[in-house]
Amino acid sequence: MGDMLKGKAALVTGSTSGIGLAMARALANEGCSVMLNGLGDPEELERVRADLAAETGAEIGFHGADMSKPAEIRDAVEKTAERFGALHILVNNAGIQHTDPIDRFPEDKWDAILAINLSAAFHATKAALPHLRRAGWGRIVNTASAHGLVASVCKAAYVAAKHGIMGLTKVTALETAEEPITCNAINPGWVRTPLVEAQIQARAEEKGVPVEEEAVALLSEKQPSKQFTTPEQLGGMLVFLCSPAADQITGAPMIADGGWTSQ
Ligand code: NAD
Repeated sequence: MGDMLKGKAALVTGSTSGIGLAMARALANEGCSVMLNGLGDPEELERVRADLAAETGAEIGFHGADMSKPAEIRDAVEKTAERFGALHILVNNAGIQHTDPIDRFPEDKWDAILAINLSAAFHATKAALPHLRRAGWGRIVNTASAHGLVASVCKAAYVAAKHGIMGLTKVTALETAEEPITCNAINPGWVRTPLVEAQIQARAEEKGVPVEEEAVALLSEKQPSKQFTTPEQLGGMLVFLCSPAADQITGAPMIADGGWTSQ
């Protein structure tokens, strides 16, 4: 617990679960006001919001924008600035996955992944930049992936979107280079969130092996450390990117993949 981000306000997209929730918690633990965002059962989402507020003592709001809808994304940015009086930090984190080879990849899944994992970050960044400039300090952090740097089979849309967000990160960094605003990417390897649990379960069922055995197999294929990256580690990286030590880090991939992309 600290107060490095006291008086600052953040919007973290896709933050009712997994990595985004841990990132929101890390910001709130530094005194930052945070607008959560995500889809799901309203009662469950309100419980997540209230628990985080009680746990951290920070102001926590919720906006239910669907990240595939540009008007709702813009509204989430505006409502965050309205509610907290300013917007300093934007974390473009919402993401979905679908795996299939290209010749069987459903077109609607391609469109949804590109919209949520890539275009949403453009719409949110466009809407947020005037607020960050008005605040006189800003951080934009895009949750990319090891798949923003290298590819895997059966993930055409995800890999294309994550490579795309690396490009958007660099352009945002260049367009804000002379301002007290930075834009960076965080590139995790495997993190055991619901998004990855679904992949482990599917693989375990297909092979007829126990889930825990398949989790080790999944790690062994890609992540030399053979350990999952944790959401808490990624929250810590986000806080570091918001610290003065990171003032000159912009347009950079911040890799936390246990050696995946070093191979
Ligand atoms: P998750 O499924 O646990 O959480 C995803 C979050 O996004 C949830 O809050 C969900 O409600 C929200 N969301 C999904 N679709 C949405 C939509 N249309 N509008 C608004 N919110 C929406 O997943 P996660 O693993 O925490 O993934 C978060 C990010 O991290 C994603 O961008 C993902 O690609 C990236 N990532 C994950 C891993 C991993 O191994 N889990 C690795 C690298 C990168």
